Amino acid sequence: MASLDLVRQLIRDVPDFPQPGILFKDITPVLADAKAFQAVLDAMEERLRGRGFDRIVAIESRGFVFGAALADRLEIGFSPVRKLGKLPYKTHRIEYALEYGKGVLEAHIDSVLPGEKVAIVDDLLATGGTAWGAAQLVQKQEAQVGAFLFVVELAFLKGRERLSQSGGPVEALISY
Ligand code: AMP
Repeated sequence: MASLDLVRQLIRDVPDFPQPGILFKDITPVLADAKAFQAVLDAMEERLRGRGFDRIVAIESRGFVFGAALADRLEIGFSPVRKLGKLPYKTHRIEYALEYGKGVLEAHIDSVLPGEKVAIVDDLLATGGTAWGAAQLVQKQEAQVGAFLFVVELAFLKGRERLSQSGGPVEALISY
């Protein structure tokens, strides 16, 4: 079986989580399978390598799993975007809307250097609100979002369109 077909098979649908009406795409079975996890990282690495990225910015918490491994493979830095109140130092903040609620994202004020070319990484693109917030935080630090990269995209929620003004391109390995 082609590697990304295996990944697609392993992604588990969990209806009504974390609230009624949401079909949650659970990627933990992918992480639990060494070959599938490696296939995801291989495909993500292939998308980013050679494009001059200086940094991976990833979104709490599933984004960290992929983002940190990718930063290691590409030998570039990793900076976290987290939900309100988790980061210890001075932060920039942005309010954002997501598929099931609203929230505030934060990044340390020195998490990205001016002029850097950054790839924003997360497990899943739904409405695009979260990645949009991360992009705002990168741009506040005068860096450029050179790519948004996701394992999964829920294309019917049109997150791509939401992100089109915030940098790009928008890339995903698996689309539903
Ligand atoms: P959004 O901001 O609407 O693009 O939502 C993306 C963020 O919420 C990502 O960090 C995802 O991990 C999470 N998320 C939203 N919807 C889902 C879903 N249906 N299944 C799994 N994760 C989701």
